[in-house]
Amino acid sequence: MLDKFRIVLVNTSHTGNIGSVARAMKTMGISNLYLVDPVTPPDGKAQALAAGATDILASAKIVDTLEEAIKDCGLVVGASARSRTWSWPMLDPRQCAKKMLSEAPKHEVALVFGRENNGLSNEELQLCQFHVCLPANPEYSSLNLAMAVQTLCYEIRMTWLENQEQYETIEEDYPLADDLDGFYQHLEETLIKTGFIIKAHPGQVMMKLKRMFNRARVERQELNILRGILSSIQSNRKRT
Ligand code: SAH
Repeated sequence: MLDKFRIVLVNTSHTGNIGSVARAMKTMGISNLYLVDPVTPPDGKAQALAAGATDILASAKIVDTLEEAIKDCGLVVGASARSRTWSWPMLDPRQCAKKMLSEAPKHEVALVFGRENNGLSNEELQLCQFHVCLPANPEYSSLNLAMAVQTLCYEIRMTWLENQEQYETIEEDYPLADDLDGFYQHLEETLIKTGFIIKAHPGQVMMKLKRMFNRARVERQELNILRGILSSIQSNRKRT
């Protein structure tokens, strides 16, 4: 089951952290590592800190964008130390482990971590269905990247060990990140065509709509209906 998990690091600066993440993952039995545009690809320092987990580094996939790293995932959770001005569905580490384990039998699940200096951008956080926050000291809540990975992977492992036998699998069929992205593009394009969104001043409409669809956790069939509605609006506009 842990094969369905992937850890995604966005734009990491220190290769030592990448090595420590590989070690943190391997000790918890998770092996799929994705590096989105690392400042420097894994080097000798990464290998030294990975210790016995250099195999995880060797098989890490390096991609240019977060979209690419998560496109085939049905559940994407972003780890963030900061609370944002806009609220997004939040999980604590235990709820995060449970949700990911209940969905892993159905599809790939990803846990996304941000840059050492300034975390994940708002755009990147909006690609995640949920955010997870480690309830650390409010006066200093920012963990080292590898420590954050270690702690969240430990929660996943503990939950997995406790429930190994009787894990209940979800019934729902959720769309993959790539399909959701296609829907959002279709929606934005339609709303620009109808004049609801002014291209030069788009405002926050798309962010709020994404948040709404996220909250609803739209299923695959429902997404197909929504896309059908958008296509009907577009073809109707062509006819009139
Ligand atoms: N200074 C950055 C924190 C970077 S720490 C900021 O203010 O956002 C690097 C990454 O580790 C973060 O992007 C996040 O993915 C993870 N992380 C660190 N502390 C965390 C916490 N308390 N809860 C959840 N994730 C955390």
